[in-house]
Amino acid sequence: MQVAETIEALRAWRAAVSGVVGFVPTMGALHDGHLSLVRRARRECERVAVSIFVNPAQFGPLEDFQSYPRDLSRDLNLLGAEGVDLVFVPAQSAIYPEGFVTWVTVERLAKRWEGASRPGHFRGVATVVLKLLNLVRPERAYFGEKDYQQLRVVERLVRDLGVPTAIVPCPTVREPDGLALSSRNAYFSPEERRAATVLWRALAAALDECVKGERSTARLCRVVKSVIGEEPLARLDYVAVADPETLEPVKQIDQRGAVCCLAAWVGKVRLIDNVRLEPVPSKGEERA
Ligand code: AMP
Repeated sequence: MQVAETIEALRAWRAAVSGVVGFVPTMGALHDGHLSLVRRARRECERVAVSIFVNPAQFGPLEDFQSYPRDLSRDLNLLGAEGVDLVFVPAQSAIYPEGFVTWVTVERLAKRWEGASRPGHFRGVATVVLKLLNLVRPERAYFGEKDYQQLRVVERLVRDLGVPTAIVPCPTVREPDGLALSSRNAYFSPEERRAATVLWRALAAALDECVKGERSTARLCRVVKSVIGEEPLARLDYVAVADPETLEPVKQIDQRGAVCCLAAWVGKVRLIDNVRLEPVPSKGEERA
């Protein structure tokens, strides 16, 4: 496995390889969620490249950029064991050279939910993703559905700007108790770790109501709020039931289905999660 720390080293690797290149961008502190993307890329591509870059531009001034977990030697060991070909570990000055002023903004899709709670977040994400895709030039790039809005933003960016990379969505990997794997789970005390299961319990309760025939998204949101409200260590930031493509809020679950997205604080840690609400026909409804 080659580790490239500079753009020149990455370009040299890219020029020398042939066949389908699969790419997994990450911020490191790797867990099985990341590795599920790497394994999928390994199955589908001749070469696999992974980047590790904690992107300052996607963190707000009061967020956890400085304290974000970093453990490069552990990450490299994990990626070596997965048969990754190249790990790109750029310095901040390689991604944001002195005088950097060019930013990518994806409108509309990036406005609500995470975009509203974290101003500038998707501008940072879109800019770094486009830069990494331009540098690695992969045929395929793998993104987790855990960051649902990010996935939609990246798909839109690639379509709008003609980037010749197929974006491959990958399902969320969870702990046995439902908590979505996240590098930020490393921050939790045992008590907070237990409380953090409330995100999935709330989403699962909404899904359950939907499966039983509930179509009103206001009522589904109320279910989520009441489950989160029962956990004293948790505080809901937002819950939304939205169109799975446009991420605009919907009033009723129809045949298109919807996605229920939420963000919540558990102690000082902010987590996000989501679940797809598929249109299972309820009593009296016909299957399309
Ligand atoms: P991050 O390091 O948080 O920027 O995540 C890198 C990639 O891994 C993104 O595409 C995430 O959506 C994906 N990812 C993070 N957590 C999970 C998870 N639990 N299951 C699947 N993919 C994930």
